[in-house]
Amino acid sequence: ENALEIKDLVKTYKDGTQALKGVDLQVEAGEIFALLGPNGAGKSTMIGIISSLVNATSGQVSVFGKDLVKDRQAVKAMIGLVPQEFNFNMFEKPIDIVANQAGYYGIPRSVAMERTEKYLKQLQLWEKRHSVSRGLSGGMKRRLMIARAMVNEPRILILDEPTAGVDIEIRRSMWSFVEEIAAQGTTIILTTHYLEEAEQLCKNIAIIDHGEIVRNTTIKELLKTL
Ligand code: ADP
Ligand code: ADP
Repeated sequence: ENALEIKDLVKTYKDGTQALKGVDLQVEAGEIFALLGPNGAGKSTMIGIISSLVNATSGQVSVFGKDLVKDRQAVKAMIGLVPQEFNFNMFEKPIDIVANQAGYYGIPRSVAMERTEKYLKQLQLWEKRHSVSRGLSGGMKRRLMIARAMVNEPRILILDEPTAGVDIEIRRSMWSFVEEIAAQGTTIILTTHYLEEAEQLCKNIAIIDHGEIVRNTTIKELLKTL
């Protein structure tokens, strides 16, 4: 089963920038898939389209067989996004940030509180649940965004550069959190600059450059040809 299927996806911004020039891609259900590429390659544009934040110019995207345009609400409910920038209210407490997100999705209060506890515990933030988020470390803040995305129990979790700019120890610990979430059945798509990160986590990988997929292969094959 495919979690994600992209066919001939094109995005041309209003200023004429061709961010995606006909991308084809498939991601299998249950895998951790890496999208690797330099700055400006089109990674954020692709993630933006899958998360319904950016409209495609043309092409098809389907998520577990549902069309992104025709079944927008169903697709939105299946996608969780963890952006690169911290975009939560720094003055709120982790417990409120996660629980309020559940409320936003219309999840009943009792279920919301259960899930909030589950994911804050899983991401090792339960002890910090009543702390002001501003005081959390960078790694904790990123984990908080993962907990917030997981509270809706998305079938696909998208991580935009989950370990950009953090040291190797935090990167390793982040990898084990990601592996744990995948082991529970969530399909994961991550963007990264680090080949090492893809090597650690993924079986399949796509390399994007100048709006085109230039390689789409297994990590094993890729490493043989480098
Ligand atoms: P769309 O074509 O999807 O409607 P727009 O062209 O309206 O998108 O751009 C959306 C926003 O992104 C605008 O506010 C624009 O100023 C900003 N923007 C323009 N160029 C860039 C760029 N190179 N990188 C990131 N953001 C940009
Ligand atoms: P990446 O995430 O791989 O760094 P992006 O998807 O952000 O790549 O950008 C792909 C290309 O599209 C770049 O040339 C970027 O400058 C351009 N771009 C991104 N957002 C906008 C926008 N809103 N308007 C115009 N150009 C944009």
